[in-house]
Amino acid sequence: MNGSPAPRVIDAFSRIGEENAFAVLARAGELAAQGHDIINLGIGQPDFATPEHIVEAAVAALRDGAHGYTPATGLQPLREAVAADLVARHGAPVDAETVMIVPGGKVTMFAAILMFGEPGAQILYPDPGFPIYRSMIEFTGATPIAVPIRQSNDFAFSAAETLSLITADTRLLILNSPANPTGGVTPRAEFDALAEGLAAHPQVAILSDEIYDRMTYQGSEHVSLLQYPALRDRLILLNGWSKTYAMTGWRLGYSVWPEAWFEPIRKLAVNCWSCVNAPAQHAALAALTGPQDAVASMMSAFDERRRFTVEGLNALPGVGCALPGGAFYAFADIGATGWQAKPLASALLERAGVATIGGPDFGVHGEGFIRLSYANSLTNIERAIERIERFLVGHPVG
Ligand code: PMP
Repeated sequence: MNGSPAPRVIDAFSRIGEENAFAVLARAGELAAQGHDIINLGIGQPDFATPEHIVEAAVAALRDGAHGYTPATGLQPLREAVAADLVARHGAPVDAETVMIVPGGKVTMFAAILMFGEPGAQILYPDPGFPIYRSMIEFTGATPIAVPIRQSNDFAFSAAETLSLITADTRLLILNSPANPTGGVTPRAEFDALAEGLAAHPQVAILSDEIYDRMTYQGSEHVSLLQYPALRDRLILLNGWSKTYAMTGWRLGYSVWPEAWFEPIRKLAVNCWSCVNAPAQHAALAALTGPQDAVASMMSAFDERRRFTVEGLNALPGVGCALPGGAFYAFADIGATGWQAKPLASALLERAGVATIGGPDFGVHGEGFIRLSYANSLTNIERAIERIERFLVGHPVG
């Protein structure tokens, strides 16, 4: 009233974005609470429980007194187990001293983008892609440069197109394979070409989001950027336990950093989250060192659902869907239905009881597509597809 200034939140917070999957999850919950029968193919998380031996390790840790801080970088045996797992799977040397345990996959992207984003900097990110990449880039004031991910290229990134977008101001390149939201898996030849081309751009740091690394199906191969020694001194590897071990709610992740950037990330941890909660780290160790059969059985269930979902989608009027090579998402081309993607996703939730995510929530190149997470039972997927069919037949456009 007297004209005295109110506290002002810095502008960066008006540029921060969202992950609409969480808004859809909340809306689906509201509708369900009102008595509607909602089938959720929206949120990207396994519908399985965390394997029992992993839960037990956390319970035992709590009982055994793992109640205090751990080192900010993570429990040493866990860092060593992460390094050993990466060496075994990718045949590339990884020093445990460059492994950082963090509270979720997202934290690595947050830290990496903070480390390279500032006004004047350009950051390349996949579009359609995980929405937090662009959100965080904008938060830092850097300029987001979309690398289009195209259906015509089987939802792989194109090395040539990516390289053509690099300028003297490019500071960070974000890659994601297997990818959210498309399920696309980029072939090795494309990685080889990219790695070769990056030699001419030594100013570009790389964030490789490999959170779906163990989620590939027959005929597709996950390629880790760790396998390119020439890039190691500018590569940040993002990974974690959320998807592979059905542990999204545990908030666990890890990253591998070039030696030169390890101190900055360790300090960021000390300033922000101190460490990941100790019982969760004990669970993470059990996940990596214990039996892996639960991972294999989850993947065979996902594979069956993948085929079933894609077959069902392809039988719908105006819908086409390629068989994704990885993750647990089907990215359906709904262009021929006449619907725009976001209105369709919203109508499917509100009027047909099926939660999906509109492609534009993953970037402008997602228009014309909706993402369906097939991390749900075959019965629910079948019911969802029947509902979508009834809705599309009953609501033709144009
Ligand atoms: N990267 C990608 C591509 C993802 O899809 C997700 C989760 N949906 C994450 C990172 C974040 O994982 P977390 O839940 O471990 O933070």
